[in-house]
Amino acid sequence: MTEPTLSTLANQPNCMDDYDPNAMSVQQARTYIQQFLEPVTETELIPIREGLGRVLAEDVISPSNVPNHNNSTMDGYAFKHRDGIQLIHVKGTAFAGKPFTGDLNPREGVKIMTGAVIPDGCDTVIMQEKTVDKGGDYVNLLEVPPKGTNVRLAGEDIKEGQAILGKSHQMQAADLGLLASLGIAEISVYRHLKVAFFSTGDELVSVGKPLQEGQIYDSNRYTIYGMLSKMGAKVTDYGIVEDDPALLENTLLKASKEHDVVITSGGVSVGEADHMKTLLAKHGQVLFWKINMKPGRPLAYGKVANAHYFGLPGNPVSTMVTFYQFVRMALLALMGSTNKPLPTFKVESVAAIKKAVGRTEFQRGILFNDNGDWKVKPLPMQGSGILSSMSQANCFIVLDETTSHCEAGAIVDVQAFEGVI
Ligand code: AMP
Ligand code: MG
Repeated sequence: MTEPTLSTLANQPNCMDDYDPNAMSVQQARTYIQQFLEPVTETELIPIREGLGRVLAEDVISPSNVPNHNNSTMDGYAFKHRDGIQLIHVKGTAFAGKPFTGDLNPREGVKIMTGAVIPDGCDTVIMQEKTVDKGGDYVNLLEVPPKGTNVRLAGEDIKEGQAILGKSHQMQAADLGLLASLGIAEISVYRHLKVAFFSTGDELVSVGKPLQEGQIYDSNRYTIYGMLSKMGAKVTDYGIVEDDPALLENTLLKASKEHDVVITSGGVSVGEADHMKTLLAKHGQVLFWKINMKPGRPLAYGKVANAHYFGLPGNPVSTMVTFYQFVRMALLALMGSTNKPLPTFKVESVAAIKKAVGRTEFQRGILFNDNGDWKVKPLPMQGSGILSSMSQANCFIVLDETTSHCEAGAIVDVQAFEGVI
């Protein structure tokens, strides 16, 4: 069956039996979003040093072998292997970077340093400690090592013509060194993703201004800024926009014209959602979902002009959880990167966890090492407004829809923040 388009889903939510915007599982929501994501196509050539975190737009092919010559892994003597050989006539020395260039006859060899080229006519290196200097340029071998011992062969690590890094790979520190080891100075990467964001809410005030009664500081713009920056996006902060249809419309249209993605927080839950909902229905194709998850139940996803749009719930923890569970994956796909789900593994919970069947929960916990075993301690305050729980935590404890209350000692799934957040 062909998947319905975004506009069909937005305008006729009853078009499919198994599509219920008011009861979406986390996985369903991810799958729906994923099918509408087309990666950016523009590329740029950059020096490798600027490549950290960038996504390769093409395979990188090795222009040479690594190592590019057979070389010694030991300080010792290089010689041509033959059974029973006891004495070598040493005709010179091979240093790393300064090869021995003379001719060698059988039973002749050279003193060789680690990393030096194996001279023509030699195939084996005996380590210095297994030889005795007999004087007069002769050394005795205390044993005959098997042919090829202590020789690192050309192309052993990488072969000329081999694809060493694939298109869509996100560059890491080791990759920079790998490319340098091949003499590659520049790489072709997808351009940066341009992401705009703003907060909605009459009660919000920016840091640096005094609070009036009933007002709160806007924290979501800061967490969103941090999460986007960490992912290497080019961000534009449109500030706080009051719950005013004209202001919201202006900002939304401006942001969507100039960016690949627009993210808002707040104003997507029932009742309050109406401004944004009406606007988004007028200018875009946006799906409003109630997701079977806690925290972070309301979520809007769609397109406004050519920009992808994510409407995140306003509660500070919900904003972060929905970002990590939906937006992060989508941004990676738009950046051209192969989809990398957050790594999940199983550990023991040292305390009981309150949970009802029916929703996937992303509770905050602290992973710690208990005499060599990793365990998790759930944080006591799990409310969707308790931002300090995200700051103290170093992982999500992921409890799926079917899981109920967990006793202390239960094995639970965790997603570590380290390396991601
Ligand atoms: P909403 O999703 O707009 O209904 O907001 C849900 C809750 O999150 C309300 O208590 C808001 O005051 C709060 N909230 C919304 N936006 C922000 C923000 N940018 N920073 C901090 N809290 C927010
Ligand atoms: Mg609001």
